[in-house]
Amino acid sequence: QARLLGRNQICVYAGAPDDEDPARLALETALRQALRDEQLELHYQPQVDLVHGRIVGVEALLRWQHPTLGRIGPDRFIPIAEETGLIVAIGDWVLRRAVEQAAAWQRAGLLPLRMAVNLSARQLLQPDLARRIEGQLAASGLNPRLFGVEVTESMLITNFDQAVQHLRALRALGVEISLDDFGTGYSSLSYLRRLPVDVVKIDRSLVPDATAPAEDVSITRAIITMAHQLQMKVLAEGVESEGQAALLAANQCDQMQGYWFSAALPAAAVETMLREGRQIDPALLGRRSRER
Ligand code: C2E
Ligand code: MG
Ligand code: MG
Ligand code: MG
Repeated sequence: QARLLGRNQICVYAGAPDDEDPARLALETALRQALRDEQLELHYQPQVDLVHGRIVGVEALLRWQHPTLGRIGPDRFIPIAEETGLIVAIGDWVLRRAVEQAAAWQRAGLLPLRMAVNLSARQLLQPDLARRIEGQLAASGLNPRLFGVEVTESMLITNFDQAVQHLRALRALGVEISLDDFGTGYSSLSYLRRLPVDVVKIDRSLVPDATAPAEDVSITRAIITMAHQLQMKVLAEGVESEGQAALLAANQCDQMQGYWFSAALPAAAVETMLREGRQIDPALLGRRSRER
């Protein structure tokens, strides 16, 4: 990589580029092996409705248990997987696993529970992504209405038209499209209007609690109002306290997920939770008159 230092001076950057960093390289090799040796696992975080308090869906989140390094979080390995292209194979594995699990839950009659999967930027660039997902849904027998995908605004930039085509095709099947981490990027209202999105997921940095300044609550309320005007639902992420949940409910937020209700859990633990009928105490949610 050449860098311009000043007039007529060019310096060749001598440091190792990112992909030759030994630690990253080791992690990349380990990640390839993880995929092969089935060290990867999906956990599922419940998503709860803020009107009746019941679990309506789960988000599939990757977990990697390395035999000697221990747990490695997706925030560390997803970026590496993105850069190396490994994310395509990993993403395929996630889709297959999540669809299988959701189909099993559907067969078991465990409520109409929706399974949401995070997509990566690279996956959205694959010309056959929507067709492949459609094929997997058909093969599994899973009702597409019980399936969803999560994308972020930044992922849509590289090839906006292709990404939007995929989302439209999936949506036409009944798959729910969520815009993840809303409020962290260059979100603009006119941009949001152009996206085929069913759910806006408010990033946890924009989820206020009872002690938050009134201005913060106003911003969150404005996002909720705007999304509703665009016929979109709103889910708040990273809800860690009862106070936050109550505040969101009082401000017409539709759904939430977060440690307060539950972290992401193995499939069996989610099943137990569903069988026990765990829900938010309706008293906390108050009475909601809803126009939608
Ligand atoms: P995300 O999609 O925004 O997922 C939400 C993250 O917030 C998850 O972190 C979740 O465990 C965490 N979280 C949930 N509730 C709370 C809470 O109350 N407080 C706090 N502080 N955090 C909470 P996780 O599992 O570490 O995943 C991080 C990111 O990695 C995800 O962000 C997503 O972008 C990515 N990721 C995870 N699994 C996959 C996958 O299968 N494919 C792709 N492409 N990306 C994935
Ligand atoms: Mg997500
Ligand atoms: Mg998020
Ligand atoms: Mg995120």
